[in-house]
Amino acid sequence: MSQATDSTTKRAERRPDKWKDDDVRGLSEPELLRYRSNLLGSDLRITNYGGGNTSAKVAMEDPLTRGKVDVLWVKGSGGDLGSMTLDGFATLYLEKLQALKALFRGREHEDEMVGYFPHCTFNLNPRATSIDTPVHCFVAHRHVDHMHADAIIAIAAAGNGERLTREIFGDAIGWVPWQRPGFDLGLKIGAASEGTSTVGLILGSHGLVTWADTSKACYETTLRVIQQAADWLTAHGRPEPFGPAVAPPRPEAERQALVAQLAPVLRGKLSPLAPKVMQYVDYAAVLEFVGSARCEELAARGTTCPDHFLRTKIRPLFVPFRPGHETVADLLPRLDALVTRYRDEYAAYYERGKRGDSPPMRDPYPVLVLVPGVGLLSFQKDKATARVAAEYMVNTINVIRWAEGVDTYQPISEQDAFDIEYWPLEEAKLQRLPKPKELEGRIALITGGAGGIGGAIARRLLTDGACVVLTDIDPAALQHAVSELGTAHGADRVRGIQGDVTSEASVRAWFAFTAREFGGLDVLVSNAGIASAAPVDETTLATWQRNVDILATGYFLVAREGYSLMKRQGRGGSIVFVGSKNALVASAGAAAYCTAKAAELHLARCLALEGAEHGIRVNVVNPDAVIRGSRIWSGSWRAERAASNRIEEDQVEEFYRQRSLLKRNVLPEDVAEAVAFFASERSSKSTGNIVNVDAGNVTAFPR
Ligand code: NAD
Repeated sequence: MSQATDSTTKRAERRPDKWKDDDVRGLSEPELLRYRSNLLGSDLRITNYGGGNTSAKVAMEDPLTRGKVDVLWVKGSGGDLGSMTLDGFATLYLEKLQALKALFRGREHEDEMVGYFPHCTFNLNPRATSIDTPVHCFVAHRHVDHMHADAIIAIAAAGNGERLTREIFGDAIGWVPWQRPGFDLGLKIGAASEGTSTVGLILGSHGLVTWADTSKACYETTLRVIQQAADWLTAHGRPEPFGPAVAPPRPEAERQALVAQLAPVLRGKLSPLAPKVMQYVDYAAVLEFVGSARCEELAARGTTCPDHFLRTKIRPLFVPFRPGHETVADLLPRLDALVTRYRDEYAAYYERGKRGDSPPMRDPYPVLVLVPGVGLLSFQKDKATARVAAEYMVNTINVIRWAEGVDTYQPISEQDAFDIEYWPLEEAKLQRLPKPKELEGRIALITGGAGGIGGAIARRLLTDGACVVLTDIDPAALQHAVSELGTAHGADRVRGIQGDVTSEASVRAWFAFTAREFGGLDVLVSNAGIASAAPVDETTLATWQRNVDILATGYFLVAREGYSLMKRQGRGGSIVFVGSKNALVASAGAAAYCTAKAAELHLARCLALEGAEHGIRVNVVNPDAVIRGSRIWSGSWRAERAASNRIEEDQVEEFYRQRSLLKRNVLPEDVAEAVAFFASERSSKSTGNIVNVDAGNVTAFPR
């Protein structure tokens, strides 16, 4: 993907003008701002994910004086331009904001200005305003966009950014050297916007500010400036800005297999302080970058856009690897040293950069890992953050390509980067975040996830913050469960893969899939099952075999693969078997089922014994008579149990209730509660244990 040198023929791809006058007819100024923001934010070439902000100064009636006042509508803190609605904007009295100049005591005190913003709130709007508010409020035009387009950041982060800006835009776009966003920068932007033909500014190492007097004109200006930058960079870029290719991409199937092997080991090494979830990215641009001669050197210069360092860390970890010439097994012995060096260098960076009021050092392990021939693996506290961090690395790669194509890629100094990463205002934001959920960063695989009990377990583990892979033999039911859970808990955290627990190949594929999708495994719930009933002398060999295959052999295959993945990952884990009261209690007319369930129970005990030294806990939850929601009970099992107990089928639920000591029905959620306990750290000192969830049954009391 080399850049062209022939400036007469090469243009960057178009960023189309999506503004439609028909769509905006009759819209108020705030609605026009929302429309414009959605258009800008929906194209990642215009602003990166969650990045950038927009504003409009709107004359409105003051609810107290009934007079007209100018109100700054500005994107609130957090949120995404592409999808935001009107309530995503903060509203502030413009005059009060501008009057804050009188309170400004200079750059060394600028953080205190943020505390004044809430005092300027218009109309009791609860939306907190962005710390970028000063970028907007002093500009002498009604509409302002602040975008993080890759093409602009390439200029902003080039060694000769100011010269390039002049060369590309003449006087139309000004230049402000890097400084941390804040009140002082806002004043400089305001001064630059007054009384000239300038339509915007490039903020060194940061992004673009553009302005106009109508929403439409502002949108058009923003688009035009970004397109002009992209066209110029494309036309003038030299070929192979990353150097020649030295590790071409491996074929897709091989890449997938390499990630499945590598990700759990890396995850184990990157998660000593908090468990991480992985996002794997192998876009063509990423593969080109990681396989290029200059990848290590360029990546070491750091990621772009300082406001994302909290998510990406200042630089990625480059893993020297020659797939095709060596295997993952060859690489593994080198990984410890690479990770340790990154961690130590991060700690040294913290020590060099820290100031009196710096927050304590955060997790020093890398987020972004670049592997030649394979791609980018991003490890973060949850799937969404890992995905977004990976997207920022893709932005960085675009920026490096363009900047190195025409000049040098030179992001801000280490101290400036540190001051952003450890900015007390950012720390305050982190402190305000809700406490992480119990299973945040954990990855769970549930067999039989499309069934009654499996579904309830999935809901529960998702509610507790885990990422969940559902497996099941029934593709339609599985798809339904995945889409329902994805809608309720966010598609990022739910995956499904079809297969049969009795097939070694299926089961292996499930765990490889889990490693590729999320990076590893912490919780394995072996639950897929069937039930059958017949007196011993009427039990066919096929029925016997089917019970043994699914309930005993199936549990073995699943446990063996999950167990070895956990071992490779090296951070312990929790395996939970959904057994049955019948694992403990013989039941007339169900010899095959009871025997297979008893085998499960004993397998769990053996695994608990072997797993202990690796921190892998293995426990069993024994349900009984979970009739509601269970697909087992909607099949022939219900009729067989009714016949065996000499009751009608519609009396089954009541029958089992009366049979229990507590006279209560057992629900799938009750089983899920016990599984959640064993999945969590709350049971960290329990292994080889059994919890019966049967509303009390004296014959099942474990002895
Ligand atoms: P369910 O039928 O609702 O769910 C079981 C799921 O396992 C189904 O979605 C099914 O498609 C899947 N499955 C079956 N065979 C499979 C195979 N070979 N490979 C992959 N997936 C397969 O039943 P449930 O009540 O939710 O049962 C879950 C577990 O709880 C089972 O192990 C069962 O023995 C156990 N259990 C249930 C009860 C009860 O009363 N429901 C009582 C004791 C134990």
